Amino acid sequence: MKRNHWIILLIIIGIAVLMMIFIFPINKNGSVDEIEIAVADSVPEPILKYGMPVDSFLIVYDTIKSGSSLSDLLRPYQVSLLTIDKIGRMSTDSFRVDRIRAGQPIALFCKKDTSIGLQADFMVYENNHIDYTIYDFRDSIIISRGQKPVEYQEKSVKGSIESSLWMALKNQNANTSLALEMSEIFGWVIDFFGIQKHDEFRIIYEVAVVEGNPIFVNKIKAGKMVHMGREYWAIPFTVDSVESFYEPDGASLRRTFLKAPLKYNRISSRYTNSRFHPILHKNTPHLAVDYSAPTGTPIRTIGEGVVTLRRYGRGAGNYVKVKHNSVYTTVYMHMSRYGEFHVGERVKQGDIIGYVGSTGLSTGPHLHFEVHKNGQKIDPLKLESPPAEPIPDSLMDEFIKVCDHWVEKIEGVE
Ligand SMILES: [Zn+2]
Repeated sequence: MKRNHWIILLIIIGIAVLMMIFIFPINKNGSVDEIEIAVADSVPEPILKYGMPVDSFLIVYDTIKSGSSLSDLLRPYQVSLLTIDKIGRMSTDSFRVDRIRAGQPIALFCKKDTSIGLQADFMVYENNHIDYTIYDFRDSIIISRGQKPVEYQEKSVKGSIESSLWMALKNQNANTSLALEMSEIFGWVIDFFGIQKHDEFRIIYEVAVVEGNPIFVNKIKAGKMVHMGREYWAIPFTVDSVESFYEPDGASLRRTFLKAPLKYNRISSRYTNSRFHPILHKNTPHLAVDYSAPTGTPIRTIGEGVVTLRRYGRGAGNYVKVKHNSVYTTVYMHMSRYGEFHVGERVKQGDIIGYVGSTGLSTGPHLHFEVHKNGQKIDPLKLESPPAEPIPDSLMDEFIKVCDHWVEKIEGVE
């Protein structure tokens, strides 16, 4: 090899070394990889709102005014009429522009460059405290849904009744919807219409928290009520993978319902929001179950309670209403005749309150059976009835441990 060849080779090696030094700035203490990690760590996490980086936009927060249209909302932000029209026509059942409600929060994510005024890239509509809809009009219109993260926090409340349970909760700054939750759990053993002055409660419950604000009561975890001097406990325990509430002696707080008011039956019409009515000859909701059975078949009350109505109605024929507690009421229609129980009398589960017939608006002998939960008709076939049996002996040791834990916790509620 000639001498000048050696020189050229040395120059090439020299340039290569210099390039390595400049392109990959190797730190004294570490490798290239470590430098990159260190850089990544020092970049702050972008602040997200509705899953979008806040820093990249100019965000305008507003609420929907009553009577305002999509056009009213978007025109000030330079969204074209064509785009607005397209969004209107994109509405489907799960998302409908005409269901946008006044008072709901919206946010407009606008371009940071405002030299030609505010220009929206996205609009976010809050459907409720958790769900939101994003309208992306940057290119072709994309509508997507999202959910804010929900956290669950344990809370507790104690109080005693002066005027009402509702007021007692309000005075303790607790969510008054707890009253409804309490009636669901304790309503089988305490008549919530009979709650009296000096009755007491201690409740441990869980609230759903979104963006730091408590939104709703998710569930009651455990509690105790003192009604007319008697203590009622609600200790949660799971038997056969169903969680229900028990007294410390292992008795269930629930009273169960019979599966159906007739012993032998055939369902002829189910609960539906729209069905063709054979007599009225139009589509009407049927918020009940019809059981077809021969005239005279005994009708039994599905649970214990008090007869609150027993009379003739033009549509219902001879019918009976039984109030089981402050939550549940059942109604039995089209009876040929009544059983022996009158208004105001107590019935036990399975007592015969009447007999199948075809009185009122009816095409043939059947029982029209309704279940009302807090005044609303619910599907009787979906009536949840977890076991009301006491804790089985085999689980009693385990239950006592769980119970001790909760009793201590409930007694500690301040
Ligand atoms: Zn019916």
